[in-house]
Amino acid sequence: MELYDSHCHLDPMRFGADMPDVLARARAAGVTRLTVIGTRAADSEAAAELAAREPGIVAAAGIHPNDVAEAEPGEWDRIVRLVEAGRVAAVGETGLDWYRTTASPDLQREFFDRHLRLAQRAARPVVIHTRDSIRDTLDMLREALGRGLVTPVLHSFTGTAAEAAEAVDLGCHLGFAGMVTFRSSAALREVAKGVPLDRLLVETDSPFLAPEPLRGKRNEPANVVHTARCLALARGETLEAFAAATTANACRIFGVA
Ligand SMILES: [Zn+2]
Repeated sequence: MELYDSHCHLDPMRFGADMPDVLARARAAGVTRLTVIGTRAADSEAAAELAAREPGIVAAAGIHPNDVAEAEPGEWDRIVRLVEAGRVAAVGETGLDWYRTTASPDLQREFFDRHLRLAQRAARPVVIHTRDSIRDTLDMLREALGRGLVTPVLHSFTGTAAEAAEAVDLGCHLGFAGMVTFRSSAALREVAKGVPLDRLLVETDSPFLAPEPLRGKRNEPANVVHTARCLALARGETLEAFAAATTANACRIFGVA
């Protein structure tokens, strides 16, 4: 059985000296492939370097919506360079966050639009963060899709069944993270049940929000097994079938062999 952690942050600030152990634990757990996601220029570059030297790892480059107000001049150009040089498999993480308004909605929209256009120009998938903003996120995506093709991934999905259905209709893939394993997340497990298997991804969003039974600890890619097991059980699928399908989906989206 092989699993693909489709969204993790392994920046050197939080994963320094023990990075080899973290990767070894992932592989030992069957988590053979990872997409490492950037939130600023520096961690996007670090992700690209990790991807260049480690098998089974690809990177995404972007500026997180919570960070766009702090982005320094020149950071966007570094993101563009990573994408245009073919050093990353995806654009992001980008999106809209109306819950944490560390950056103004206008600035978040401007950066989301830039990321979408870059993804379209470079023919790369785009990794999207949406929090309390699904309506505006889907509206901007619909507009972008009118301009041309893009493959959107809504990561750490927490919306309703109706929102999931609308996103799937738009061509989105939906990633589910550790939150879906929490006892209080019965409604979210119901939503995950309704997502077509060929649109489903599983992720840790490491180092954040570790799944049950590891809640509260620093999260790492090996833990995606717990989220996969919970989702497979909720959907009435075997873990093996769930792992095979979600791994195939992520390989297809991110262009991984
Ligand atoms: Zn993230």
